[in-house]
Amino acid sequence: MYQSFIGLEVHIHLLTKTKVFCGCRSAFGDEPNTNVCPICMGYPGVLPALNIEAMRMGCMVAKSLHCRIPEKTWFERKQYFYPDMTKNYQISQFASPLGQEGFVEIEGKNIKKRVRIKECHLEEDAGKMIHTGTVSLLDYNRAGVSLLEIVTEPDMETGEEAERFIQQLRRLVRYLGVCDGNMEEGSLRADANVSINLPGKGLGRKVEIKNLNSSRFVRLGLNYEIHRQGEFLDAGKTVVQETRLWNENRDQTEPMRTKENAQDYRYFPEPDLPVFTPDLAFLKSVDDALVELPVPRMKRLEAEYGLSAEQADLICDEKALADYFEEAVAAAEKQGFNTQDAATRIVNWLLMDIKHILVREGIPLHAILSFTLKPQQLATLVVMVAQGQVSMKNAKQAMEAVITEGKDPELLIRERGWEQLTDPAKIAEAVNAVYADEGEVFAELNRTGEKDKRRRTLTAYLVGKVLEKTGGRADPKIVGTQVAALIQKG
Ligand code: ADP
Ligand code: ZN
Ligand code: MG
Repeated sequence: MYQSFIGLEVHIHLLTKTKVFCGCRSAFGDEPNTNVCPICMGYPGVLPALNIEAMRMGCMVAKSLHCRIPEKTWFERKQYFYPDMTKNYQISQFASPLGQEGFVEIEGKNIKKRVRIKECHLEEDAGKMIHTGTVSLLDYNRAGVSLLEIVTEPDMETGEEAERFIQQLRRLVRYLGVCDGNMEEGSLRADANVSINLPGKGLGRKVEIKNLNSSRFVRLGLNYEIHRQGEFLDAGKTVVQETRLWNENRDQTEPMRTKENAQDYRYFPEPDLPVFTPDLAFLKSVDDALVELPVPRMKRLEAEYGLSAEQADLICDEKALADYFEEAVAAAEKQGFNTQDAATRIVNWLLMDIKHILVREGIPLHAILSFTLKPQQLATLVVMVAQGQVSMKNAKQAMEAVITEGKDPELLIRERGWEQLTDPAKIAEAVNAVYADEGEVFAELNRTGEKDKRRRTLTAYLVGKVLEKTGGRADPKIVGTQVAALIQKG
């Protein structure tokens, strides 16, 4: 067996309105080359100016990853040639990145570990090359977009751990509102570095898998690589240090370029941008913008509301869903309802019915707070069911009506006569009517013995008939007792 080492480099697009060093719009999917200016096109003699929002968002992520923000942070030029970058250098950070030496705790199925963060640095994105047949097209809309790179130490060991890291980081930046986390559109992309070695021998020779645009590919690519490198070492060969790509059609990594020696980018401080010294006002603005993060919130929901770890995980998947949940529970509490009981019921409604309805209505989970059914209305329905004022079936029907008509659920239930029927005399009327209709069934019940399985089926059938007669409104418990009494009488 070999020991494996995985380090990730994750790039996230910050949700700044404009690019990091010029005033161009920062947006995905616009007409090519419409959001460009001499600065992001790299004309000679132009002057970049730092977008302070990008620095603030970068520091928010850095702090949330327990990184230290240095007293002074600055930018360097990273020199290399590629057609998607017209200046022939990228403005990045090298010697004093905005976030240093942090960590994140990853937790999941059979996973619990601390992953050290080496650094977070701010840089500009490059343009995009589109290869079509014999020509290549260039779109510079993305050139100069604010990019934050998060670099981990090689502390992970399996594809599963790396996948979990990406998922947690994605959640974190979405909670902070600094990145939409959309991996398909490239707002969050990962390069995965992996090496293996004999136990105790330290790091091996690393292979980098570039541009992974889904957390699943991160897992698959890394596990494939660990296996491939193991076979190499088993055969007495040495692993070539290189950059590879994940081929999703063949489920394998393939060589892209060899990287025998570390490339020399000849970094030097960017002379056109001043050193940035975060002052107290800036640091306070960073702190003020922080929110409760997904992992602590999950733990709090478990402790405060008695949710299982799995439920808390699902509820905290989106900040808006967790907000909705807590608002609904608070509303139920206001109606005098027990917190944990309300929480259990509300979680079930949210994770089962409401999630499906949102899919049906084409509303993304993160937009749940603008959904017609408000948390207070859900709370009303849940409390009414719990107090036996309406059956579960009719409450769900009422929920659908609230969604289409936007009315108050309690009013709607009264208006339609959907309240639970609990008056024994009224229920007896329906039971007697069924007794008259279903003489045969009652007769059969009289012939069957106490232990006969068929007894239960027939009884359930009769209860169903009574419920049907009352439009689903009769309290099933009372119906059950009355039907049983009738059978007893014979
Ligand atoms: P480079 O100079 O090639 O970019 P870095 O030292 O900056 O390398 O590391 C880049 C990423 O690769 C980091 O996430 C780091 O944890 C990881 N890494 C570095 N060396 C190894 C190794 N031998 N095995 C696995 N991962 C590694
Ligand atoms: Zn520009
Ligand atoms: Mg590096």
